Amino acid sequence: MGKALYPPAFRQLSMREIRPEGWLLNQLKIQANGLSGNLDKFWPDIKASQWIGGCAEGWERLPYWLDGFIPLAWLLDDEDMKARACRYMDIIISNQAPDGWICPEKERGKGRAQYDLWAMFLILKVLVLYHDAAGDQRVEEVVRKALLALDRHIDRTTLFGWAHMRWFESLISIWWLYERTGEAWLLDLAAKLYAQGFDWIEFFKRWPYKKPDEKWRWSFMSHVVNNAMMLKSGALLWRLTGLSEHLNSAEYMVSLLDEHHGMVTGVFTGDECLAGTSPVQGTELCAVVEYMYSLEHLLAITGRSHWGDRLEKIAYNALPATFSPDMWTHQYDQQVNQVECSRQENPIFRTNGGESNLFGLEPNYGCCTANLSPGWPKLALSTFMRSPDGLVAAVYAPSTVNTNINGVQVTVTLKTDYPFRDTLNFIVNVDREVEFALDLRIPVWAEKPELKMGGFSLVLPSGGFYRVNRR
Ligand SMILES: [Zn+2]
Repeated sequence: MGKALYPPAFRQLSMREIRPEGWLLNQLKIQANGLSGNLDKFWPDIKASQWIGGCAEGWERLPYWLDGFIPLAWLLDDEDMKARACRYMDIIISNQAPDGWICPEKERGKGRAQYDLWAMFLILKVLVLYHDAAGDQRVEEVVRKALLALDRHIDRTTLFGWAHMRWFESLISIWWLYERTGEAWLLDLAAKLYAQGFDWIEFFKRWPYKKPDEKWRWSFMSHVVNNAMMLKSGALLWRLTGLSEHLNSAEYMVSLLDEHHGMVTGVFTGDECLAGTSPVQGTELCAVVEYMYSLEHLLAITGRSHWGDRLEKIAYNALPATFSPDMWTHQYDQQVNQVECSRQENPIFRTNGGESNLFGLEPNYGCCTANLSPGWPKLALSTFMRSPDGLVAAVYAPSTVNTNINGVQVTVTLKTDYPFRDTLNFIVNVDREVEFALDLRIPVWAEKPELKMGGFSLVLPSGGFYRVNRR
């Protein structure tokens, strides 16, 4: 075993240990009955994806969808959805080339050298998720061979395009495999990707977007989804470097984005590049979902409670605002102050088209149609996390965790209507006597939060975590 990665403060539980309850369960059922649960039946980019031998898009859309559809299927324990997910993963795994290349060979007529590796980072992340869900023992070797292929590939064809901007997404699967095998070449691969990829942390030291680009130019660096995604890059990188500059980078980046592009919903504008502080500017749905995913990593790796506050703010405001209640339609761009929902002849959006704020199947562009899928399921997976001493109530939504602590089966249920009501009821059941810590996130906005337990009550300070350590 080589050098250990710096450990995260908290680790995600397996999706087989978490059960959504109450309104969250209902929301996931709505999503399963809406677009996410049905795209594979009719939408060509999923149904006839080049990933499974069809002729439609063979890049980011199928992995985006699977990234949400897989946890949705397992969190709902829906046999039909699970079988459909397995069929897709079986084909993708069996299509892997002998040399490890796992992406479509001739995507839209382009060969390997022209293929933007962003989609490879995505499918690797999905494979790791699928391993957790289905326990498919083939996955480790599939990921290993694919990463070896990636390692050889970038020696000749350095990162370009989206992969260049989103290189850090590859660290999710690299760290997963490294913690299982300890193979040193994985750290070298990570260093190579870091060297080839765009350095967001350096870029933010002389950040040119304190106001939106005057000529409304589209750019990778001001692209709203790239910005939402890159917020987790420093924390992921910190696991290798241990540098506080990496661990702390997101605080500085978020403060700049809030000041110059921030919205009351907790997200920043981008339609589809950073668009300033007017609440009639839009925010792309992909950015909302990716910001949430970045915050889930930031909360787990740093253990800082304010990332959970931000995650809830976005999940409970920006995410639901951009869907119809049945989750069959969505907007590309949501606006905090949207006074009408009609086609804009002179769109106020900076680089997006006039249909971006309509509700539909794929208004403006189809990325969000697929990438809306991970939003709710991954929030559900983040309600409880594991700490070295027990469990963490990280994000408040009705949920049950059933896990093993020191050889004892432990069930913790959070019964609540939060965020619609402000009471959280935790019910702890254990098979036999066991001592562990339950850390409760105390939102910084909470005024005189009160804990009642076993006949006493106390007022807690706002912010941080409050540890309940009991036998
Ligand atoms: Zn999108």
